Amino acid sequence: MEEEVKRLNFLEEIIEDDLKSGKCESILTRFPPEPNGYLHLGHAKSLCINFGLAQKYGGKTNLRYDDTNPTKEDTEYVDAIKEDIRWMGFQWEKECYASDYFDQLYEWAERMIEQGLAYVDDQTQEQMRENRGTVDKPGVNSPWRDRTPEENLRLFREMRDGKYADGEKVLRAKIDMAHPKMEFRDPIMYRIKHASHHRTGDKWCIYPMYDYTHGQSDSIEHITHSICTLEFDVHRPLYDWYIKTLGIFPSHQYEFARLNLTYTLMSKRKLLELVQKGLVAGWDDPRMPTLCGVRRRGYTADALKMFCDKIGVTKHDQLMDIQLLEWCVRQDLNARSNRYMVVQDPVKVKITNWPAGQVEWFDCPLNPAEPEGASRKVPFTGELYIDRADFMEDAPKKFFRLKPDGEVRLKYTYIIKCDKVIKDADGNVTELECSYDPSTKPGAGEWRSVKGTIHWVSCDYAKKITLRNYDRLFTLADMSQVPEDKDYKDFLNPESLVIGSGLAEPALLEDASGIAVQFERTGYYIKDKDSSEAEVIFNRTATLKDSYKPE
Ligand code: ATP
Ligand code: MG
Repeated sequence: MEEEVKRLNFLEEIIEDDLKSGKCESILTRFPPEPNGYLHLGHAKSLCINFGLAQKYGGKTNLRYDDTNPTKEDTEYVDAIKEDIRWMGFQWEKECYASDYFDQLYEWAERMIEQGLAYVDDQTQEQMRENRGTVDKPGVNSPWRDRTPEENLRLFREMRDGKYADGEKVLRAKIDMAHPKMEFRDPIMYRIKHASHHRTGDKWCIYPMYDYTHGQSDSIEHITHSICTLEFDVHRPLYDWYIKTLGIFPSHQYEFARLNLTYTLMSKRKLLELVQKGLVAGWDDPRMPTLCGVRRRGYTADALKMFCDKIGVTKHDQLMDIQLLEWCVRQDLNARSNRYMVVQDPVKVKITNWPAGQVEWFDCPLNPAEPEGASRKVPFTGELYIDRADFMEDAPKKFFRLKPDGEVRLKYTYIIKCDKVIKDADGNVTELECSYDPSTKPGAGEWRSVKGTIHWVSCDYAKKITLRNYDRLFTLADMSQVPEDKDYKDFLNPESLVIGSGLAEPALLEDASGIAVQFERTGYYIKDKDSSEAEVIFNRTATLKDSYKPE
Protein backbone atom coordinates (compact mmCIF):
# COMPACT_ATOMS: atom_id res chain seq x y z
CA MET A 1 0.00 0.00 0.00
CA GLU A 2 1.34 3.42 -0.97
CA GLU A 3 1.62 5.72 1.97
CA GLU A 4 3.32 9.04 2.21
CA VAL A 5 6.18 8.64 4.66
CA LYS A 6 6.76 11.84 6.54
CA ARG A 7 10.34 12.35 7.61
CA LEU A 8 10.90 12.80 11.31
CA ASN A 9 11.99 16.23 12.43
CA PHE A 10 15.11 16.49 14.58
CA LEU A 11 13.13 16.62 17.83
CA GLU A 12 11.20 13.48 16.91
CA GLU A 13 14.49 11.77 16.12
CA ILE A 14 15.89 12.70 19.52
CA ILE A 15 12.77 11.53 21.32
CA GLU A 16 12.58 8.24 19.44
CA ASP A 17 16.24 7.59 20.29
CA ASP A 18 15.66 8.42 23.94
CA LEU A 19 12.65 6.14 24.16
CA LYS A 20 14.48 3.34 22.34
CA SER A 21 17.63 3.58 24.44
CA GLY A 22 15.60 3.71 27.63
CA LYS A 23 16.96 7.14 28.55
CA CYS A 24 13.35 7.91 29.42
CA GLU A 25 10.27 5.76 29.68
CA SER A 26 7.85 8.39 28.55
CA ILE A 27 8.25 12.02 27.66
CA LEU A 28 7.17 15.07 29.59
CA THR A 29 7.42 18.46 27.90
CA ARG A 30 6.39 21.88 29.14
CA PHE A 31 5.12 25.11 27.69
CA PRO A 32 6.72 27.95 29.70
CA PRO A 33 5.13 31.36 29.00
CA GLU A 34 6.04 34.41 30.98
CA PRO A 35 2.71 35.92 32.04
CA ASN A 36 3.70 39.38 30.80
CA GLY A 37 1.53 39.51 27.70
CA TYR A 38 -0.85 37.57 25.50
CA LEU A 39 0.18 34.55 23.46
CA HIS A 40 0.96 35.17 19.79
CA LEU A 41 1.43 33.13 16.62
CA GLY A 42 4.99 32.28 17.65
CA HIS A 43 3.63 30.72 20.81
CA ALA A 44 1.21 28.70 18.68
CA LYS A 45 4.23 27.08 17.08
CA SER A 46 5.73 26.36 20.48
CA LEU A 47 2.39 24.94 21.68
CA CYS A 48 2.08 22.69 18.62
CA ILE A 49 5.61 21.40 19.17
CA ASN A 50 5.41 20.84 22.92
CA PHE A 51 1.89 19.43 23.04
CA GLY A 52 2.17 17.81 19.62
CA LEU A 53 5.27 15.80 20.53
CA ALA A 54 3.76 14.65 23.81
CA GLN A 55 0.58 13.56 22.01
CA LYS A 56 2.51 11.74 19.33
CA TYR A 57 4.64 9.79 21.82
CA GLY A 58 2.04 9.16 24.50
CA GLY A 59 3.58 11.67 26.86
CA LYS A 60 2.32 14.73 28.70
CA THR A 61 2.87 18.47 28.79
CA ASN A 62 2.94 20.81 31.75
CA LEU A 63 1.88 24.41 31.58
CA ARG A 64 4.50 26.34 33.50
CA TYR A 65 4.31 30.03 34.10
CA ASP A 66 7.78 31.46 34.09
CA ASP A 67 6.90 34.14 36.61
CA THR A 68 10.14 35.43 38.09
CA ASN A 69 9.73 39.05 37.06
CA PRO A 70 7.06 40.53 39.36
CA THR A 71 6.93 44.03 37.88
CA LYS A 72 5.81 42.93 34.44
CA GLU A 73 3.51 40.05 35.26
CA ASP A 74 -0.17 39.89 35.96
CA THR A 75 -3.01 37.43 36.56
CA GLU A 76 -4.85 38.96 33.59
CA TYR A 77 -2.18 37.34 31.42
CA VAL A 78 -2.23 34.09 33.39
CA ASP A 79 -5.94 33.66 32.66
CA ALA A 80 -5.72 34.75 29.03
CA ILE A 81 -2.92 32.27 28.36
CA LYS A 82 -5.01 29.37 29.66
CA GLU A 83 -7.96 30.42 27.54
CA ASP A 84 -5.75 30.53 24.43
CA ILE A 85 -4.21 27.11 25.06
CA ARG A 86 -7.65 25.57 25.52
CA TRP A 87 -8.83 27.25 22.36
CA MET A 88 -5.92 25.65 20.51
CA GLY A 89 -7.34 22.36 21.73
CA PHE A 90 -4.52 21.38 24.06
CA GLN A 91 -4.85 20.11 27.60
CA TRP A 92 -1.96 20.44 30.01
CA GLU A 93 -1.12 17.87 32.62
CA LYS A 94 -0.15 20.14 35.53
CA GLU A 95 -0.48 23.86 35.94
CA CYS A 96 2.82 24.98 37.44
CA TYR A 97 4.45 28.23 38.39
CA ALA A 98 8.15 28.93 38.74
CA SER A 99 7.13 30.99 41.76
CA ASP A 100 5.97 27.76 43.45
CA TYR A 101 9.63 26.80 43.52
CA PHE A 102 10.92 29.97 45.18
CA ASP A 103 11.43 28.19 48.53
CA GLN A 104 13.27 25.30 46.94
CA LEU A 105 15.39 27.60 44.80
CA TYR A 106 16.27 29.64 47.86
CA GLU A 107 17.30 26.54 49.76
CA TRP A 108 19.53 25.44 46.90
CA ALA A 109 21.11 28.89 46.80
CA GLU A 110 22.02 28.63 50.47
CA ARG A 111 23.50 25.22 49.80
CA MET A 112 25.62 26.64 47.00
CA ILE A 113 26.82 29.42 49.31
CA GLU A 114 27.79 26.90 51.96
CA GLN A 115 29.76 24.95 49.35
CA GLY A 116 31.61 28.08 48.27
CA LEU A 117 29.80 28.09 44.93
CA ALA A 118 27.99 31.42 45.31
CA TYR A 119 28.74 34.83 46.80
CA VAL A 120 27.08 38.14 47.51
CA ASP A 121 28.46 40.92 45.34
CA ASP A 122 28.18 44.62 46.23
CA GLN A 123 29.36 45.97 42.90
CA THR A 124 27.06 48.30 41.03
CA GLN A 125 25.53 47.15 37.76
CA GLU A 126 27.99 49.44 35.98
CA GLN A 127 31.01 47.92 37.72
CA MET A 128 29.79 44.41 37.04
CA ARG A 129 29.42 45.21 33.36
CA GLU A 130 32.92 46.71 33.20
CA ASN A 131 34.48 43.80 35.04
CA ARG A 132 32.78 41.16 32.94
CA GLY A 133 35.35 41.51 30.15
CA THR A 134 34.58 40.70 26.54
CA VAL A 135 34.76 37.64 24.34
CA ASP A 136 38.47 38.42 23.74
CA LYS A 137 39.25 39.78 27.18
CA PRO A 138 38.90 37.91 30.47
CA GLY A 139 36.82 39.52 33.19
CA VAL A 140 38.10 40.86 36.49
CA ASN A 141 37.18 39.27 39.81
CA SER A 142 34.87 41.23 42.04
CA PRO A 143 36.53 42.60 45.21
CA TRP A 144 33.75 40.79 47.11
CA ARG A 145 34.36 37.43 45.47
CA ASP A 146 36.29 35.91 48.36
CA ARG A 147 33.85 36.52 51.14
CA THR A 148 33.54 33.52 53.45
CA PRO A 149 30.51 31.26 53.19
CA GLU A 150 29.42 32.50 56.65
CA GLU A 151 29.49 36.13 55.59
CA ASN A 152 27.76 35.33 52.31
CA LEU A 153 25.04 33.42 54.09
CA ARG A 154 24.44 36.29 56.50
CA LEU A 155 24.30 38.86 53.69
CA PHE A 156 22.05 36.70 51.51
CA ARG A 157 19.61 36.27 54.39
CA GLU A 158 19.67 40.01 54.96
CA MET A 159 18.92 40.49 51.28
CA ARG A 160 15.95 38.18 51.66
CA ASP A 161 14.83 39.99 54.81
CA GLY A 162 14.65 43.30 53.02
CA LYS A 163 17.64 45.04 54.55
CA TYR A 164 18.92 46.37 51.23
CA ALA A 165 17.56 48.49 48.44
CA ASP A 166 17.05 47.32 44.86
CA GLY A 167 20.38 46.93 43.11
CA GLU A 168 22.49 47.20 46.26
CA LYS A 169 23.59 43.58 46.20
CA VAL A 170 23.22 40.46 44.10
CA LEU A 171 23.96 36.80 44.60
CA ARG A 172 26.30 35.35 41.96
CA ALA A 173 27.46 31.86 41.16
CA LYS A 174 31.21 31.56 41.69
CA ILE A 175 32.42 29.95 38.47
CA ASP A 176 35.17 31.65 36.47
CA MET A 177 35.55 35.30 35.46
CA ALA A 178 37.88 34.28 32.63
CA HIS A 179 35.60 31.57 31.22
CA PRO A 180 35.51 31.56 27.41
CA LYS A 181 31.71 31.42 27.61
CA MET A 182 30.54 34.80 28.88
CA GLU A 183 27.50 33.17 30.55
CA PHE A 184 29.84 31.39 32.94
CA ARG A 185 31.49 34.58 34.23
CA ASP A 186 29.86 34.44 37.64
CA PRO A 187 26.22 34.71 36.48
CA ILE A 188 23.76 36.48 38.73
CA MET A 189 21.45 34.11 40.58
CA TYR A 190 19.33 36.57 42.60
CA ARG A 191 18.58 40.26 42.44
CA ILE A 192 16.76 42.46 44.92
CA LYS A 193 13.40 43.74 43.79
CA HIS A 194 11.00 45.28 46.26
CA ALA A 195 7.89 44.52 44.28
CA SER A 196 4.70 42.59 44.86
CA HIS A 197 4.41 39.37 42.96
CA HIS A 198 1.07 38.34 41.41
CA ARG A 199 1.17 35.09 43.37
CA THR A 200 3.63 35.35 46.25
CA GLY A 201 2.60 38.88 47.18
CA ASP A 202 5.19 40.55 49.41
CA LYS A 203 6.75 37.36 50.69
CA TRP A 204 9.89 37.91 48.63
CA CYS A 205 11.98 40.92 47.81
CA ILE A 206 14.66 38.88 46.10
CA TYR A 207 13.86 37.09 42.85
CA PRO A 208 15.81 34.38 41.01
CA MET A 209 17.15 35.00 37.50
CA TYR A 210 15.90 33.07 34.47
CA ASP A 211 19.03 30.90 34.23
CA TYR A 212 18.93 29.99 37.89
CA THR A 213 15.23 29.12 37.62
CA HIS A 214 14.42 27.45 34.36
CA GLY A 215 16.52 24.29 34.46
CA GLN A 216 15.72 23.67 38.09
CA SER A 217 12.00 24.11 37.45
CA ASP A 218 12.23 21.59 34.62
CA SER A 219 14.14 19.28 36.92
CA ILE A 220 11.64 19.58 39.79
CA GLU A 221 8.83 18.58 37.40
CA HIS A 222 10.96 15.83 35.80
CA ILE A 223 10.62 17.37 32.36
CA THR A 224 12.44 15.08 29.94
CA HIS A 225 12.61 17.38 26.90
CA SER A 226 12.73 21.10 27.55
CA ILE A 227 12.13 22.64 24.16
CA CYS A 228 12.75 26.33 23.51
CA THR A 229 13.77 28.74 20.78
CA LEU A 230 17.26 29.02 19.32
CA GLU A 231 18.31 32.15 21.17
CA PHE A 232 18.46 30.06 24.33
CA ASP A 233 21.23 27.83 23.04
CA VAL A 234 23.83 30.03 24.75
CA HIS A 235 22.00 29.38 28.02
CA ARG A 236 22.14 25.61 27.70
CA PRO A 237 25.62 25.05 29.22
CA LEU A 238 24.58 27.01 32.29
CA TYR A 239 21.25 25.13 32.40
CA ASP A 240 23.25 21.90 32.52
CA TRP A 241 25.76 23.32 35.01
CA TYR A 242 23.16 24.20 37.66
CA ILE A 243 21.49 20.80 37.31
CA LYS A 244 24.81 19.01 37.61
CA THR A 245 26.06 21.18 40.46
CA LEU A 246 22.86 20.60 42.44
CA GLY A 247 22.79 16.92 41.50
CA ILE A 248 19.11 16.95 40.58
CA PHE A 249 16.95 15.25 37.91
CA PRO A 250 18.67 15.66 34.54
CA SER A 251 16.28 17.54 32.27
CA HIS A 252 17.68 18.46 28.87
CA GLN A 253 17.15 21.49 26.73
CA TYR A 254 16.69 21.45 22.93
CA GLU A 255 16.32 24.46 20.67
CA PHE A 256 14.29 25.06 17.51
CA ALA A 257 13.93 28.05 15.20
CA ARG A 258 11.41 30.62 16.34
CA LEU A 259 8.60 31.61 14.03
CA ASN A 260 9.03 34.87 12.14
CA LEU A 261 6.31 35.97 9.75
CA THR A 262 6.28 38.58 7.01
CA TYR A 263 4.41 41.82 7.80
CA THR A 264 4.20 40.73 11.43
CA LEU A 265 5.81 41.63 14.73
CA MET A 266 5.82 39.18 17.58
CA SER A 267 7.70 40.87 20.37
CA LYS A 268 5.42 41.12 23.39
CA ARG A 269 7.11 44.38 24.38
CA LYS A 270 6.18 46.01 21.08
CA LEU A 271 2.70 44.51 21.02
CA LEU A 272 2.17 45.95 24.50
CA GLU A 273 3.30 49.35 23.23
CA LEU A 274 0.74 49.22 20.41
CA VAL A 275 -1.96 48.46 22.95
CA GLN A 276 -0.86 51.10 25.46
CA LYS A 277 -0.52 53.84 22.84
CA GLY A 278 -3.98 53.01 21.47
CA LEU A 279 -2.60 52.24 18.01
CA VAL A 280 -4.75 49.11 18.03
CA ALA A 281 -8.01 48.45 19.86
CA GLY A 282 -6.46 46.11 22.45
CA TRP A 283 -4.64 42.79 22.64
CA ASP A 284 -7.49 41.16 20.74
CA ASP A 285 -7.65 43.70 17.94
CA PRO A 286 -8.21 41.48 14.87
CA ARG A 287 -5.05 42.88 13.27
CA MET A 288 -2.87 41.73 16.15
CA PRO A 289 -0.82 38.52 15.76
CA THR A 290 -2.02 37.44 19.20
CA LEU A 291 -4.07 34.27 19.46
CA CYS A 292 -7.01 36.26 20.82
CA GLY A 293 -6.56 38.71 17.93
CA VAL A 294 -6.51 36.12 15.15
CA ARG A 295 -9.39 34.31 16.85
CA ARG A 296 -11.45 37.49 16.76
CA ARG A 297 -10.34 37.88 13.16
CA GLY A 298 -11.87 34.48 12.41
CA TYR A 299 -8.79 32.29 12.15
CA THR A 300 -9.41 28.79 13.46
CA ALA A 301 -7.22 26.69 15.72
CA ASP A 302 -7.22 24.01 13.02
CA ALA A 303 -5.85 26.49 10.49
CA LEU A 304 -3.04 27.44 12.89
CA LYS A 305 -2.23 23.79 13.45
CA MET A 306 -2.21 23.14 9.72
CA PHE A 307 0.18 26.07 9.33
CA CYS A 308 2.52 24.87 12.09
CA ASP A 309 2.52 21.44 10.53
CA LYS A 310 3.45 22.86 7.14
CA ILE A 311 6.31 25.04 8.39
CA GLY A 312 7.76 22.13 10.37
CA VAL A 313 10.52 22.25 12.95
CA THR A 314 14.00 23.37 11.98
CA LYS A 315 17.19 24.58 13.53
CA HIS A 316 17.75 27.71 11.45
CA ASP A 317 15.81 30.94 11.65
CA GLN A 318 13.59 31.74 8.72
CA LEU A 319 11.08 34.36 7.73
CA MET A 320 7.85 32.58 6.85
CA ASP A 321 5.42 33.97 4.30
CA ILE A 322 2.22 35.14 5.96
CA GLN A 323 0.44 34.12 2.77
CA LEU A 324 0.98 30.52 3.77
CA LEU A 325 -0.92 31.15 6.99
CA GLU A 326 -3.69 32.94 5.09
CA TRP A 327 -3.80 30.02 2.67
CA CYS A 328 -4.27 27.60 5.58
CA VAL A 329 -7.09 29.76 6.93
CA ARG A 330 -8.85 29.71 3.54
CA GLN A 331 -8.33 25.97 3.20
CA ASP A 332 -9.91 25.28 6.55
CA LEU A 333 -12.78 27.73 6.16
CA ASN A 334 -13.49 26.70 2.60
CA ALA A 335 -14.19 23.20 3.82
CA ARG A 336 -16.29 24.17 6.81
CA SER A 337 -17.80 27.60 6.65
CA ASN A 338 -21.43 28.39 5.93
CA ARG A 339 -22.21 30.47 2.84
CA TYR A 340 -24.30 33.61 2.68
CA MET A 341 -24.85 36.33 0.12
CA VAL A 342 -23.92 39.90 1.00
CA VAL A 343 -23.87 42.88 -1.35
CA GLN A 344 -21.33 45.56 -0.43
CA ASP A 345 -21.75 48.19 -3.14
CA PRO A 346 -25.40 47.87 -4.12
CA VAL A 347 -27.14 48.71 -7.35
CA LYS A 348 -30.83 47.97 -7.60
CA VAL A 349 -32.26 45.42 -10.02
CA LYS A 350 -35.98 45.60 -10.80
CA ILE A 351 -37.48 42.39 -12.20
CA THR A 352 -40.20 43.87 -14.40
CA ASN A 353 -42.04 40.61 -15.11
CA TRP A 354 -42.10 39.42 -11.48
CA PRO A 355 -45.63 39.22 -10.03
CA ALA A 356 -46.13 42.22 -7.75
CA GLY A 357 -45.69 41.41 -4.06
CA GLN A 358 -44.66 37.80 -4.62
CA VAL A 359 -41.94 36.24 -2.47
CA GLU A 360 -40.31 32.97 -3.42
CA TRP A 361 -38.17 31.19 -0.83
CA PHE A 362 -35.23 29.18 -2.13
CA ASP A 363 -33.65 26.39 -0.18
CA CYS A 364 -29.91 26.92 -0.56
CA PRO A 365 -27.16 24.69 0.81
CA LEU A 366 -25.07 26.17 3.61
CA ASN A 367 -22.05 24.52 2.10
CA PRO A 368 -21.93 23.68 -1.63
CA ALA A 369 -19.64 20.73 -0.88
CA GLU A 370 -22.64 19.13 0.82
CA PRO A 371 -25.58 19.90 -1.48
CA GLU A 372 -27.77 17.56 0.56
CA GLY A 373 -26.58 18.98 3.85
CA ALA A 374 -28.06 21.75 5.97
CA SER A 375 -29.63 24.63 4.11
CA ARG A 376 -30.86 28.15 4.61
CA LYS A 377 -33.89 29.88 3.15
CA VAL A 378 -33.26 32.79 0.80
CA PRO A 379 -36.12 35.08 -0.29
CA PHE A 380 -36.43 36.18 -3.93
CA THR A 381 -38.56 39.24 -4.71
CA GLY A 382 -39.14 41.72 -7.51
CA GLU A 383 -36.49 44.16 -6.27
CA LEU A 384 -32.96 42.98 -5.62
CA TYR A 385 -29.50 44.34 -5.01
CA ILE A 386 -26.45 43.17 -6.87
CA ASP A 387 -22.89 44.40 -6.50
CA ARG A 388 -22.03 47.34 -8.74
CA ALA A 389 -18.90 45.54 -9.89
CA ASP A 390 -21.08 42.78 -11.37
CA PHE A 391 -22.57 45.15 -13.92
CA MET A 392 -20.73 46.86 -16.75
CA GLU A 393 -22.26 49.08 -19.38
CA ASP A 394 -19.51 49.02 -21.98
CA ALA A 395 -18.41 45.53 -21.21
CA PRO A 396 -15.59 43.79 -23.03
CA LYS A 397 -16.35 40.47 -24.70
CA LYS A 398 -14.95 38.43 -21.84
CA PHE A 399 -17.15 40.09 -19.23
CA PHE A 400 -19.63 37.36 -18.31
CA ARG A 401 -21.61 39.11 -15.65
CA LEU A 402 -24.49 41.52 -16.22
CA LYS A 403 -24.40 43.93 -19.17
CA PRO A 404 -27.05 45.62 -21.34
CA ASP A 405 -29.01 42.93 -23.21
CA GLY A 406 -26.88 40.31 -21.53
CA GLU A 407 -27.90 37.42 -19.32
CA VAL A 408 -26.59 36.23 -15.98
CA ARG A 409 -27.76 33.71 -13.41
CA LEU A 410 -28.67 35.01 -9.97
CA LYS A 411 -27.06 32.43 -7.74
CA TYR A 412 -29.39 29.51 -6.80
CA THR A 413 -32.24 31.02 -8.81
CA TYR A 414 -33.22 32.33 -12.23
CA ILE A 415 -31.44 33.70 -15.24
CA ILE A 416 -32.20 37.37 -15.74
CA LYS A 417 -31.64 39.65 -18.71
CA CYS A 418 -30.79 43.34 -18.49
CA ASP A 419 -33.30 45.30 -20.55
CA LYS A 420 -32.72 48.87 -19.49
CA VAL A 421 -30.12 50.94 -17.63
CA ILE A 422 -31.40 53.87 -15.60
CA LYS A 423 -29.02 56.68 -14.60
CA ASP A 424 -29.12 59.87 -12.60
CA ALA A 425 -28.26 63.35 -13.94
CA ASP A 426 -24.54 62.70 -13.37
CA GLY A 427 -24.61 59.53 -15.41
CA ASN A 428 -24.37 57.13 -12.45
CA VAL A 429 -26.30 53.91 -12.79
CA THR A 430 -29.15 53.90 -10.27
CA GLU A 431 -31.26 50.97 -11.38
CA LEU A 432 -31.29 48.11 -13.83
CA GLU A 433 -34.54 46.97 -15.33
CA CYS A 434 -34.37 43.23 -15.95
CA SER A 435 -36.66 40.36 -16.83
CA TYR A 436 -36.41 36.87 -15.47
CA ASP A 437 -36.90 33.61 -17.31
CA PRO A 438 -39.25 31.42 -15.22
CA SER A 439 -38.14 28.29 -17.06
CA THR A 440 -34.62 28.58 -15.67
CA LYS A 441 -35.50 27.72 -12.09
CA PRO A 442 -32.98 25.10 -10.91
CA GLY A 443 -34.49 21.64 -10.73
CA ALA A 444 -37.47 22.61 -12.86
CA GLY A 445 -37.24 21.45 -16.42
CA GLU A 446 -34.14 21.56 -18.58
CA TRP A 447 -31.03 23.25 -17.25
CA ARG A 448 -29.94 26.19 -19.35
CA SER A 449 -26.55 27.56 -18.58
CA VAL A 450 -25.08 31.01 -18.94
CA LYS A 451 -21.47 31.95 -18.39
CA GLY A 452 -21.89 34.14 -15.34
CA THR A 453 -23.41 33.64 -11.90
CA ILE A 454 -23.62 36.51 -9.44
CA HIS A 455 -24.79 36.95 -5.86
CA TRP A 456 -27.76 39.09 -4.91
CA VAL A 457 -30.00 40.07 -2.00
CA SER A 458 -33.71 40.88 -1.86
CA CYS A 459 -34.28 44.59 -1.13
CA ASP A 460 -37.26 43.87 1.11
CA TYR A 461 -35.39 41.38 3.25
CA ALA A 462 -31.84 42.82 3.19
CA LYS A 463 -30.22 43.34 6.59
CA LYS A 464 -27.77 46.15 6.92
CA ILE A 465 -24.47 45.16 8.52
CA THR A 466 -21.21 46.93 9.28
CA LEU A 467 -18.05 45.50 7.85
CA ARG A 468 -14.61 45.86 9.33
CA ASN A 469 -12.36 45.09 6.43
CA TYR A 470 -8.97 44.24 7.89
CA ASP A 471 -5.65 44.06 6.18
CA ARG A 472 -2.07 43.54 7.37
CA LEU A 473 -0.99 45.71 10.27
CA PHE A 474 2.42 46.57 8.81
CA THR A 475 3.64 47.51 5.36
CA LEU A 476 7.19 46.17 5.70
CA ALA A 477 7.65 42.52 4.78
CA ASP A 478 10.60 41.86 7.05
CA MET A 479 9.94 43.71 10.28
CA SER A 480 13.41 42.83 11.56
CA GLN A 481 14.77 45.18 8.88
CA VAL A 482 13.37 48.48 10.16
CA PRO A 483 16.08 51.03 9.19
CA GLU A 484 18.13 52.66 11.98
CA ASP A 485 16.57 56.09 11.50
CA LYS A 486 13.03 54.72 11.61
CA ASP A 487 10.72 53.18 14.15
CA TYR A 488 8.64 50.07 13.63
CA LYS A 489 5.54 52.21 14.15
CA ASP A 490 6.45 54.15 10.99
CA PHE A 491 5.43 51.01 9.11
CA LEU A 492 1.90 50.73 10.44
CA ASN A 493 -0.46 50.25 7.51
CA PRO A 494 -2.92 53.20 7.42
CA GLU A 495 -5.36 50.99 5.54
CA SER A 496 -5.22 48.05 7.91
CA LEU A 497 -8.85 48.76 8.80
CA VAL A 498 -11.40 50.08 6.32
CA ILE A 499 -14.97 50.32 7.56
CA GLY A 500 -17.63 49.37 5.07
CA SER A 501 -21.18 48.18 5.06
CA GLY A 502 -23.14 45.39 3.51
CA LEU A 503 -26.66 44.23 2.74
CA ALA A 504 -27.07 40.64 3.80
CA GLU A 505 -29.59 37.89 3.19
CA PRO A 506 -31.61 37.46 6.40
CA ALA A 507 -30.29 33.98 7.31
CA LEU A 508 -26.83 35.42 7.95
CA LEU A 509 -28.01 36.94 11.19
CA GLU A 510 -29.28 33.57 12.37
CA ASP A 511 -25.97 31.79 11.75
CA ALA A 512 -24.97 29.73 14.76
CA SER A 513 -21.87 28.00 13.44
CA GLY A 514 -19.54 29.94 15.74
CA ILE A 515 -16.86 30.17 13.06
CA ALA A 516 -16.29 32.54 10.19
CA VAL A 517 -18.76 32.38 7.32
CA GLN A 518 -18.19 32.91 3.63
CA PHE A 519 -19.77 35.89 1.94
CA GLU A 520 -20.15 34.25 -1.44
CA ARG A 521 -17.70 35.46 -4.04
CA THR A 522 -16.06 38.01 -1.69
CA GLY A 523 -14.49 36.73 1.48
CA TYR A 524 -14.64 35.15 4.91
CA TYR A 525 -16.16 37.17 7.74
CA ILE A 526 -16.92 36.57 11.39
CA LYS A 527 -19.44 38.31 13.60
CA ASP A 528 -17.73 40.57 16.11
CA LYS A 529 -18.44 40.78 19.82
CA ASP A 530 -19.04 44.54 19.48
CA SER A 531 -22.30 43.78 17.67
CA SER A 532 -25.55 45.00 19.21
CA GLU A 533 -29.23 44.93 18.34
CA ALA A 534 -28.76 48.21 16.54
CA GLU A 535 -25.55 47.38 14.71
CA VAL A 536 -24.32 43.99 13.59
CA ILE A 537 -20.61 43.98 12.86
CA PHE A 538 -18.60 41.52 10.82
CA ASN A 539 -14.81 41.31 10.71
CA ARG A 540 -13.10 40.28 7.52
CA THR A 541 -11.05 37.17 8.16
CA ALA A 542 -9.62 36.89 4.65
CA THR A 543 -10.51 37.77 1.13
CA LEU A 544 -11.69 34.88 -0.97
CA LYS A 545 -9.32 35.03 -3.87
CA ASP A 546 -5.60 34.86 -3.80
CA SER A 547 -3.08 33.80 -6.38
CA TYR A 548 -0.79 32.33 -3.72
CA LYS A 549 -0.05 28.60 -3.88
CA PRO A 550 2.16 26.85 -1.36
CA GLU A 551 5.20 24.98 -2.73
P1 ATP B 1 8.57 37.58 23.38
O1 ATP B 1 9.95 37.76 22.87
O2 ATP B 1 7.49 37.80 22.39
O3 ATP B 1 8.31 38.29 24.68
P2 ATP B 1 9.14 35.25 24.85
O4 ATP B 1 10.04 34.23 24.29
O5 ATP B 1 9.67 36.14 25.88
O6 ATP B 1 8.47 36.04 23.67
P3 ATP B 1 7.68 33.51 26.52
O7 ATP B 1 6.39 33.77 27.17
O8 ATP B 1 8.89 33.46 27.36
O9 ATP B 1 7.83 34.60 25.41
O10 ATP B 1 7.59 32.25 25.58
C1 ATP B 1 7.02 31.01 25.93
C2 ATP B 1 7.53 29.96 25.00
O11 ATP B 1 7.18 30.28 23.66
C3 ATP B 1 9.03 29.87 25.04
O12 ATP B 1 9.43 28.52 25.06
C4 ATP B 1 9.47 30.57 23.79
O13 ATP B 1 10.69 30.05 23.33
C5 ATP B 1 8.31 30.28 22.84
N1 ATP B 1 8.23 31.32 21.82
C6 ATP B 1 8.16 32.65 22.01
N2 ATP B 1 8.15 33.30 20.84
C7 ATP B 1 8.21 32.35 19.86
C8 ATP B 1 8.24 32.38 18.42
N3 ATP B 1 8.21 33.51 17.74
N4 ATP B 1 8.31 31.20 17.78
C9 ATP B 1 8.32 30.04 18.46
N5 ATP B 1 8.30 29.94 19.79
C10 ATP B 1 8.25 31.09 20.49
MG1 MG C 1 10.62 35.17 27.68
